[in-house]
Amino acid sequence: MSGLESSGVSSGGVRSTGIRRKALPSAEEFVKGILSGNKMILARAITLVESSLPAHKELAEKIIDACLPHSGNSVRIGITGIPGVGKSTFIEAFGMHVISQGKKLAVLTIDPSSQISGGSILGDKTRMFDLSRNDSAFIRPSPSGDSLGGVARKTRETIYLCEAAGFDTIFVETVGVGQSETAVHSMVDLFLLLMIAGAGDELQGIKRGIMEMADLFAVTKADGDNKARAELTRVETQSAIHFFPSNENGWTPKVLSCSAVTKEGISEIWTQILEYEKTLKSNGYFEIRRTDQAKYWLEETVSEHLMGDFYSRMKDLYQDMEEKVSQHKISSFQAAEKLIQEYRKRNHK
Ligand code: GDP
Repeated sequence: MSGLESSGVSSGGVRSTGIRRKALPSAEEFVKGILSGNKMILARAITLVESSLPAHKELAEKIIDACLPHSGNSVRIGITGIPGVGKSTFIEAFGMHVISQGKKLAVLTIDPSSQISGGSILGDKTRMFDLSRNDSAFIRPSPSGDSLGGVARKTRETIYLCEAAGFDTIFVETVGVGQSETAVHSMVDLFLLLMIAGAGDELQGIKRGIMEMADLFAVTKADGDNKARAELTRVETQSAIHFFPSNENGWTPKVLSCSAVTKEGISEIWTQILEYEKTLKSNGYFEIRRTDQAKYWLEETVSEHLMGDFYSRMKDLYQDMEEKVSQHKISSFQAAEKLIQEYRKRNHK
């Protein structure tokens, strides 16, 4: 039995039946399967990326390395909005439209709520029924049991694998409750914020910082009795964003409205995304944003590793210093200096 099976890690896509499953493929077999667009192999590779077992990590790194030269050729779209705004219904309708335009779509989710509550806000309900059965779509729920940073890194690596498997449109969905938006923003080309009609000035519990990150806004559920209210919210939002600092990338965020039920406005959102891509590719900002993100992840990963190493080696002294700082026996700077000196000493041993 392979490590993957024996660890009880689901191979994502293959149901556990109690029957012995096939041995874990080699890195080469994984890469070959991914590059040929095999969704089952892709799902198993993502499970390796999500695993915390050292052997899986090592294999995952090999696979990612080999896939990297085949990645990047997609439009990565972050989609957020408060629970109930209609994210999954929208993604289903919008995703089907994107596929009807000849695209191959991967839908990934980042849901840090599953770490806090043990349950997830995005939910285990049957989501995206049509998409999940469509050959041109690949849906992967959020990795769980990790810090937001960990979830975000795994999602970023998953994007590479999906791109290598030929998915040219990537949605990264997240719950609109704070932190996770920043992580998503650091891995997508465009950020789409879904808004609910009639929530007025409070801007629906969405922090202003998150609104400032958005490249595109869509007021959802613009149908039936709600249509007029949706239009009002659209106009109000469009005028509110005039006061936001202007983007250096030459793009002015647009506010649209749509209905996942009547499908009105859905194709316009895709048209705007294509327009955005065209604008930023022609002025170079598409590439600049990706380069900035690559640098951000380099820095993030290095500091995550260093901090992890630091705390694991220095736990005793750190706690001691923390206490002394709390009791004003030593300044924070002196304490930090002592800790770092000791860390260097221990590292040389
Ligand atoms: P999420 O929590 O953001 O993923 O929201 P859901 O997609 O689960 O939708 C929340 C509720 O809004 C559900 O009852 C949907 O049926 C409803 N809903 C979603 N989109 C639309 C829409 O375009 N029009 C109408 N009338 N209802 C919608």
